[in-house]
Amino acid sequence: MQSFDAVIIGGGPAGMTAALYLLRSGASVALVERLAPGGQILTTEWIENYPGYPKGIKGYELADLMADHLKEYPLVTLRNEVRAMEHHGPGRNTVHLDEYPVQAKAVVICSGVAWKRLGLEREEYFVGRGVSYCALCDANFFKGQAVAAVGGGNTALEESIYLAKIVKKVYLIHRRDAFRADKIFQKRVQDTPNIECVMHSVPTELLGETELQGVRVTHLPDGSQRILDIAGLFVFVGSEALTNFVPPALSLSPSRFIPTDQSMATNLPGIYAAGDVRDKHCRQVATAVGDGANAAQSASLFLDSL
Ligand SMILES: Cc1cc2nc3c(=O)[nH]c(=O)nc-3n(C[C@H](O)[C@H](O)[C@H](O)COP(=O)(O)OP(=O)(O)OC[C@H]3O[C@@H](n4cnc5c(N)ncnc54)[C@H](O)[C@@H]3O)c2cc1C
Repeated sequence: MQSFDAVIIGGGPAGMTAALYLLRSGASVALVERLAPGGQILTTEWIENYPGYPKGIKGYELADLMADHLKEYPLVTLRNEVRAMEHHGPGRNTVHLDEYPVQAKAVVICSGVAWKRLGLEREEYFVGRGVSYCALCDANFFKGQAVAAVGGGNTALEESIYLAKIVKKVYLIHRRDAFRADKIFQKRVQDTPNIECVMHSVPTELLGETELQGVRVTHLPDGSQRILDIAGLFVFVGSEALTNFVPPALSLSPSRFIPTDQSMATNLPGIYAAGDVRDKHCRQVATAVGDGANAAQSASLFLDSL
């Protein structure tokens, strides 16, 4: 069985930073990523708030820069999905990948988040047939057509503004009578003529036979219904931590994020968490990178102590 000083789970900004710092400390490191390196920034059009890029940077460009930086070091990249983890005691962990297990003295969990579903009937069926969770990936399929976006936070408003540049019209559906998003995004939505806000409303039925053709929307205060003729429905109603593989003894928050101390240590010795998967308030590239560096430094000290 392959054995490493450290195994990092997830190749987003947190995982790539943790790998960089651990490699520079001289540790043998494997980075396990089920998709391409980059994580959520691969689905982000522009990042305007990452320090050093005053004009912004495209998400995939930042991902490539981070991945290229790692090419300077002897990183072992395993294109695989982590299915389970066993913690046998300090410095003794088995990480079970799709195809085989690997051993790790330290583990840094950087598996990020997944976007929540609405829970509507036939939602999974319509994924790829009109329902999407990523505007950057799918907006172009709906050029010149009407779409709806669901949600009231920063992501919902930011993504609606992006969609409005490509599609004919965006219905922005939100269950409350006011948005939670930052004022700057609310102002941009107001100033975008082809966004219609459908407030105090929720989607209640997906319509169409083989492709999405519309959505039934219920107005919560009076129960009245309206059908929106749309070809695409973009869902931005929150995220959930990707922690289904962690060992049973690892503490999780009620919403299954990983609580850590200031050094990114979990309740299990030698297991650290960094980035969006951590129980924290601000989930951004800059905080993921900071967490990754911090976790790697702690893991390095742990390895020295063995
Ligand atoms: C649409 C959108 C716009 C955004 N805009 C901005 C912005 O403008 N500025 C900003 O700072 N932030 C932005 N963010 C947030 C930012 O992208 C995240 O905070 C950041 O990517 C978190 O990094 P991470 O490494 O913690 O997790 P992620 O980027 O989620 O990476 C986690 C990685 O782990 C992998 N993984 C998960 N489970 C497993 C497993 N079991 N086995 C193997 N691999 C696994 C995933 O495939 C993924 O690549 C945006 C996010 C989205 C979705």
